[in-house]
Amino acid sequence: MEDLAAKQECASAFDAHHAPSNEIIEKCVHCGFCLPVCPTYVLWGQEMDSPRGRIYLMKMASEGATEMNSNWVSHFDSCLGCMACTTACPSGVDYGKLIEATRAQIERKTERSRGDKLHRRFMFETFTQPDRLRQMRFPLLVYQKSGLQAVVRELGLLRLLPKKMQAMEALLPKLRPREAVAEVTPAVGTKRRRVGLLLGCVQREFFSQVNAATVRVLAAEGCEVVAPLAQPCCGALLVHAGEEAAAVELAKRTIDAFERANVETIVTNAAGCGSNMKEYGHLLRDEPEYAERARAFAAKCKDVSEVLTEMEPRAKRNTLKLRVAFHDSCHLQHAQGVRLQPRALLSSIPGLELAEIPEAAICCGSAGIFNLVQPDAANALGDRKAQLIGPLKADVVATGNPGCVLQMQSALARRGQKTPVVHTIQILDASIRGESSESLLR
Ligand code: SF4
Ligand code: SF4
Repeated sequence: MEDLAAKQECASAFDAHHAPSNEIIEKCVHCGFCLPVCPTYVLWGQEMDSPRGRIYLMKMASEGATEMNSNWVSHFDSCLGCMACTTACPSGVDYGKLIEATRAQIERKTERSRGDKLHRRFMFETFTQPDRLRQMRFPLLVYQKSGLQAVVRELGLLRLLPKKMQAMEALLPKLRPREAVAEVTPAVGTKRRRVGLLLGCVQREFFSQVNAATVRVLAAEGCEVVAPLAQPCCGALLVHAGEEAAAVELAKRTIDAFERANVETIVTNAAGCGSNMKEYGHLLRDEPEYAERARAFAAKCKDVSEVLTEMEPRAKRNTLKLRVAFHDSCHLQHAQGVRLQPRALLSSIPGLELAEIPEAAICCGSAGIFNLVQPDAANALGDRKAQLIGPLKADVVATGNPGCVLQMQSALARRGQKTPVVHTIQILDASIRGESSESLLR
């Protein structure tokens, strides 16, 4: 028996550390129900760029029928990790676990080009470090405010840069003054809960107004909000890119920070971070000191829309005359199964009209670092989404993930559409504070 196991392990292209589970692979009955919602299959119509095809490629590698060569890897690099296939699958194939394990194998066992390595290192060492992002704010502010950005864009100078750099520039949000969040914000009125808030990395530095709005709304609804100063990046970007060891370390530090805060619930307002933290039990399953704590931590994590819809509304909602197109972030709708809650929050606002975007199951092309490493496919998906938003004549687009905000702002701008894209919580915050609709349209 042992000989057979050793032979199989030898035959497999995967190493023994968390190889994609054969049990999950075998659950796929090749029915193809997942194909119409898979963004890469929708774009290219190629079986190997569909969930079913990718699972087949994993099976082949697991049986030693293929090597992890560059062609094989390319089909996984092109996967957005959007999890639309998981939602669509009637057989319960947990594709999320498969792609996460496959990507970690790719990063351990294959060699990327020098350019790719440098690009990835830059992203991981920047986007997971709020301090570094903060240092970038000043030069970027100068770039935007001096008018240099407008000139560079107008003259088409960006075309001189490599495509991946162009993608990064195109996604740059309009920087606003940084709004600080206190480490502890008291509840308004009688305290109903003590919650922790994950500040995120890009969210903290480039969308601090979203964190500020989240704190105000939670406090208005009776939550004491703790935002631990020592919290690191949650590691979502790294997990989704196969950088398992680094992600494990960040997950441990995140757990440490929130355990010290002694909160009942840990609130996230970035769907990618939320879906990652809800999976800490799986990520840290081999860590004796953390496995149990990670499961307890994960059970406490909730998207802000989940927390708010669990509580009877206390703060008055003021009228906002707005037509809002709601965009489901993949890591909220597919990875966390949160669809109704953000819609319920928006629908609770008098005067607000909700518009549904067709093809809601299909990703906008953001998907973690996807729009930075696969800019052509990401732009095609963004353009498709923007095209569907156009006829809705919405005043504003709402969503629950900073990556989707950036991706859709950029896609709408390419179409010459000025519709602002905001986080759902900013609309609720504006309603509770009695602000005008115009405050959201600036
Ligand atoms: S995660 Fe998204 S892109 Fe990847 S196979 Fe599934 S549906 Fe397709
Ligand atoms: S829907 Fe599920 S079972 Fe059917 S092909 Fe896709 S992954 Fe396999």
